[in-house]
Amino acid sequence: MLPFKLVYSDDYYLPIGSHVFPAEKYRRIHDRLLASGIAEPSDFVAPRPATDHDVRLVHTPQYVEKLQTGTLSAREELELEVPYSPELVRAFWLAAGGSILAADHALNDGVAISIGGGFHHAFPDHGEGFCVIHDVAIAIRRMQRDDKIHTAMTVDCDVHQGNGTAAIFAGTRTTSEPLPSAASAANPSGSPITPAKTRMHSGHSGDVFTISLHQENNYPMWKPPSSIDIDLPDEIGDDDYLAWLDNALSSGLRQFHPDLICYLAGADPYCEDQLGGLSLTLEGLKKRDELVFRVAKARGIPVMVTLAGGYALKVEDTVMIHCNTVVAAKEVFGG
Ligand SMILES: [Zn+2]
Repeated sequence: MLPFKLVYSDDYYLPIGSHVFPAEKYRRIHDRLLASGIAEPSDFVAPRPATDHDVRLVHTPQYVEKLQTGTLSAREELELEVPYSPELVRAFWLAAGGSILAADHALNDGVAISIGGGFHHAFPDHGEGFCVIHDVAIAIRRMQRDDKIHTAMTVDCDVHQGNGTAAIFAGTRTTSEPLPSAASAANPSGSPITPAKTRMHSGHSGDVFTISLHQENNYPMWKPPSSIDIDLPDEIGDDDYLAWLDNALSSGLRQFHPDLICYLAGADPYCEDQLGGLSLTLEGLKKRDELVFRVAKARGIPVMVTLAGGYALKVEDTVMIHCNTVVAAKEVFGG
């Protein structure tokens, strides 16, 4: 039995038909975790849908109303890049409920993983890029409303920048210090790491600190500032990526003390991803997960995990990458 909970429902499935987003990945991850003996049935807990009240902690009443009544404009539907349906809305409300439940379990057990969620391209008043509502932001605001946390940090390792996250938590930032330059930073082999553009956003003291590591030359075109953005060049590999992640985590945690880390463990920095242009290997992605978990554990900060994107040419690779996130958590938190 795992020392933490996995949040999952068969109803995480997104009814979007034939699509580059492999909506069946959630069930396949669940089934593989069981078949491989990584998890047992008792490790899973089932979420309930978020309430409209929860969703309105992040989203505008007008947008929630449009989603509930099917009155999005044609342009708003197009922007989602997934076909609108009432069933789709239900699946997203359930994903948000799953992230709330995972945050709650993480606060009890040190870590929890939702086998879903990570819809970081949703904004308060609209959705885009396969993301209808922002489950992670909703979970953070719900935990704060219930007085279970005061501060949170998002660590977004999806290959695409967390534009919705940055927009939602804009104006809640802390003063930033510069990241080490590429010349002074070194990868594990001791050689200088490949330069990346880093952007630090200064502002007044706030309650949510956002970190995004992503490919610069990729969607979204407009990248609103996170507290820390690492704009990575195309084709960056394992060692450089891990060095930049290490830098970003160290820098973020020097300036901000979160009560909860929300880790978006996107599978799309993978070298064979159809929508990504980075070159991480399966092993590199697992090391990435281990790094986040080790840092969180060493500092005693609970970490809630969502899966976010993953569009590998072979769906089984995406499934493997997400399963490895559970394995990494088991290895770091297991003993
Ligand atoms: Zn992505």
